[in-house]
Amino acid sequence: MAFHPIAETGKGRRRGMHVFRWALISATVLASAAPPAFAERLLVKDQAGFNQAAKRARPGDVILLADGEWRDFQIMFEGHGAADKPITLTAQTKGRVILTGQSNLRLAGEYLVVSGLVFRNGYTPTTDVIAFRRDSKASASHSRVTEIVIDGFNQPDRRKEDRWVSLHGRHNRVDHSHFAGKANAGVTLAVIRQSGQPLDNRHEIDHNYFGPRPPLGSNGGETIRIGTSEESLSASNTIVEDNYFERCDGEVEIVSIKSGGNVLRRNTFFESQGALVLRHGNGNLVEDNVFLGNGRANTGGVRVINTGQTVRGNYMEGLAGTGFSSAITVMNGVPNSPINRYHQVRKALIERNSVIDSARITLGAGADAERSAPPIDSRFERNLIVSSQGADPFRVDADISGVALAGNIQEGATDARLRQGVAQQRVALSRATNGLLYPIDAALAEIGAPRTLRPVTKQETGTPWYPKPGAATADFGDGRRLAAGASLAKAIAAARNGDTIVLGAGEHVVDAPLAISRTLTIAGPQAGAPAMLRFVRSPLFRIERGGRLRLQNVTVSGAQADTMPGNAVIRTGDGSMSENYAIEIVDSNFRDLDRSPGFDVIATTPSTLAEHVLIHASRFEGVSGAVIAAHSETGGQGHYNAEQVEIAASEFRNVGMIADIFRSGRDESTFGPRFSLTGSIVTGSGKEAGVSLRLSGVQFTSIKGNRFAGSGGIEVTHSVGTPDTRITDNRFEATPAPLVRELYAKGPPRAVLANNVAVN
Ligand code: CA
Repeated sequence: MAFHPIAETGKGRRRGMHVFRWALISATVLASAAPPAFAERLLVKDQAGFNQAAKRARPGDVILLADGEWRDFQIMFEGHGAADKPITLTAQTKGRVILTGQSNLRLAGEYLVVSGLVFRNGYTPTTDVIAFRRDSKASASHSRVTEIVIDGFNQPDRRKEDRWVSLHGRHNRVDHSHFAGKANAGVTLAVIRQSGQPLDNRHEIDHNYFGPRPPLGSNGGETIRIGTSEESLSASNTIVEDNYFERCDGEVEIVSIKSGGNVLRRNTFFESQGALVLRHGNGNLVEDNVFLGNGRANTGGVRVINTGQTVRGNYMEGLAGTGFSSAITVMNGVPNSPINRYHQVRKALIERNSVIDSARITLGAGADAERSAPPIDSRFERNLIVSSQGADPFRVDADISGVALAGNIQEGATDARLRQGVAQQRVALSRATNGLLYPIDAALAEIGAPRTLRPVTKQETGTPWYPKPGAATADFGDGRRLAAGASLAKAIAAARNGDTIVLGAGEHVVDAPLAISRTLTIAGPQAGAPAMLRFVRSPLFRIERGGRLRLQNVTVSGAQADTMPGNAVIRTGDGSMSENYAIEIVDSNFRDLDRSPGFDVIATTPSTLAEHVLIHASRFEGVSGAVIAAHSETGGQGHYNAEQVEIAASEFRNVGMIADIFRSGRDESTFGPRFSLTGSIVTGSGKEAGVSLRLSGVQFTSIKGNRFAGSGGIEVTHSVGTPDTRITDNRFEATPAPLVRELYAKGPPRAVLANNVAVN
């Protein structure tokens, strides 16, 4: 068991806090009346005061940081407490000590406790916000970080990597803390395991609130990682329990286990994209977790790799993920795998899980020429699989004779290979008081997740004194409707998140770029003459940190724009943006954007990510560049500029390219980019390049029901992952047929081309 300076569990939390307060008060009283052997309670008001207090702190002492903002404070908390007398660093009032600017916290020694601090409005100048070590020579053990908040404490450059919490040493605990809004590269919380350092860590990570983490658009967006592949064959024996993960969407691994002997239990994963992945290491236990997807795309469950993994008693409902992010994924391995690839699954025990209304269970996932070793010596027993829509979630991608199936119950059709051990049965469910669905039939009591499950709630995690994010931030159209008046620039500066600025009818000339740093809609009048925006300096709109822009019912003309090459109507700001942005264009017209070469409508810059770009019922005529230019990334790390691009019911006439989207690299860590083009008309476009639509490394493509005439063709290049490309029901008049090619995979291109009509 790890050391708990103040013994408490989830249930005993209030009592624990009470004891804590009492201890503080008695220490103060005793300090004034007794010899110096007694513990002290020291209130410090500046960094020098803290350094002095920390230097002379003895077991049992409590150092309090005075309420207020502490700017550019790199806290070095080093000391040696005792098992029954830790040295404590806390806030005068929990939640009222705010670390801002370039701040961080390092702990070294033993029996230390830190609580009550908030990191906000800044970022760490080092590789960690909180590190359980001073440097490579001194780490912390038997220490605890509790009721700490790290909120949006991001590097300004999204590519710059850091970790919010790095656990070193042994027997440390991180609990009841709040981590939300990490947007730059790097794991939110990592257990660091290096040779020469302790490997049998026995840390505890419990009752934390892991709040929304937006897609990173590359590898390195995990919320928790335990170890790395190098030391993965040793056991960390870390416990991750009773944590709440809300919309942790950083990448395909929400939790990445790269060591053995870990226990992950009673955690709730709420609408989080990705999966709990047993990536490296053996003998891990994943038990009694609850995964609730609510049908959100890419929400997954548990992915099994390696030897001796147990996945038991988990409840999964409404998970829409497929492939590597299925509710349950059992992977194929690489024969004699190198340490950093995929070890064959052996001796996996997957029992008594409930998979309700979820898209997929994949056995033998990832089977290909390299991953050719199917799971062996494994068991899949007494699982309950129910799909109210009647769909069969099972997909078998390899030989699964090494997986013994027994006592499973499924409602819905079944793959012939699963007929033994998966009984077909109608299962009526009802929702129990714990909020989860169970069979009404008492005879099925021992099938699927146990009735004793009690999903940890959001309220039970994090700290009571720091508010958790509510529903999504202000969306387009949520706020006030304001008239643009004489100056659109002034109206934008005065607008608040979610507001709509309504332009008057007629022409508006904009002579300098308009910076967008909030969620704003700019709309033409609902009736009467249309509103036209003419601009002089490119870009018309510059998206800055926090910016999301919707254009509705407006016409944009570039007829007066300066004739520099590389102009754009909308461009992201210079440099990286740690926050993702979004652009929506609805019922709008764009024209005269061809007076100089390479004039784009939307141009993305490196190290920025559009969470979505939506174009609906809009018309583009005379564009010399691309309507969506999202190809600014280079290098092999799998970076890209747009997560989801959706175009529908729109018209493109004489445009250079509809979209040019590029995702670099061979890494399999992302869900995007995703692209769809539906019900649109493309004429005389892409003639110069011979291509009207270029997609490279896109993971999901749907091009359906469009008409192309006298235009360049569609070019789709598959690089990594399991790209899903469908080009159907289109008409190509005097336009080359679509070209789909594979960069790495052998065999014919993996795409569905159907019901397309070619007319010359
Ligand atoms: Ca990863």
